[in-house]
Amino acid sequence: MTLIDEIIKRDVEDAASSIGDTLEGANVLLTGGAGFIGSWLCDALIHLKARVTCLDNLSSGRMSNIDHIRSERFRFINRDICRFEAEESYDYILHLASIASPEDYERRPDEALLSNSLGSYMVLEAARKGGSTVLFTSSSEVYGDADVIPTPESYWGKVNPVGIRSCYEEAKRFGEALFMAYHRRYGVDVRIARIFNSYGPRIRADGAYARVVPRFIIQALRNQAVTVYGDGYQTRSFCYIADTVKALLLQLEKEKARGESLNIGSPFEVSILELAKKIRETVGSESKITFHPPRLDDPKRRCPNLNKTEKILEWRPQTSLSDGLGKTIKWFRMRAKTNCNEKEL
Ligand code: UDP
Repeated sequence: MTLIDEIIKRDVEDAASSIGDTLEGANVLLTGGAGFIGSWLCDALIHLKARVTCLDNLSSGRMSNIDHIRSERFRFINRDICRFEAEESYDYILHLASIASPEDYERRPDEALLSNSLGSYMVLEAARKGGSTVLFTSSSEVYGDADVIPTPESYWGKVNPVGIRSCYEEAKRFGEALFMAYHRRYGVDVRIARIFNSYGPRIRADGAYARVVPRFIIQALRNQAVTVYGDGYQTRSFCYIADTVKALLLQLEKEKARGESLNIGSPFEVSILELAKKIRETVGSESKITFHPPRLDDPKRRCPNLNKTEKILEWRPQTSLSDGLGKTIKWFRMRAKTNCNEKEL
């Protein structure tokens, strides 16, 4: 294990510490397991003594996220979920396989649509035949450009069905509908996580894959301009990955989460301009902040109402934005110093 993985190890152990022994010895299929959130879940599930099959076609996931895992309870299959027929039954299936970054899904919208529709169908068929509990990682994007902030699960959404982001928004909405269809018609034990912006070590910082937090961190570390799109008054709520992982594990564990969609995110709303300044300050960078044209259909505000999640999971994120950014910046600094090739950042 490298020093970089050590930073993650402590957080994984922490996230897993409040989970009972439900997952011990369980056979788990994780689609998208080489991605950012998926690889943290692989670590946590192995730590909890589950057997893990990690399925990923490496379209945005990376082997470097999982190649530290040395366990005979872990195996990796390089395959697209749309072409996967399960040959065994799983106790749990977690369906994470999907492109997640706006610039990436705008580039290959069909792939985003298919992994959440056909991919969800493949996963649900496996769950129906194998009697699995199956979790779908949906997204705050099902709400589109929400009028109600903080947004509760009961909000139906404001989505442009033919807009530039519809390939992701509608894909996640369809995925949720299909999961509920299998729940209602076949009694499959489904759980739906509407994940809001999550960040932390292992999140990609390169090219179209990069979300705002890692992009600003790398720009600040290199003393390059921090690129704000639009006026920077649009908001997001950023949840540290260890908190996200803990919520997802609790969602698998808690019986009351069956058949429910739950918001998973931070209730602390911050503007993108504030974020840029905070990252620049934490890094101690001399970067300028520059303004660029806004993204099309960029949601103006995003923040979850956590009432339902708190009641069902007894969970609330514990990591402040300052602490989470501190750890993430530390990880990127170490990575730059050690094994990382420039392209991987
Ligand atoms: N953003 C930005 N500069 C960048 C990348 C993103 O100002 O270099 C903004 C983007 O317009 C959006 C927010 O940051 O308002 C979050 O973008 P991200 O790509 O992380 O994903 P989203 O939350 O929109 O899914």
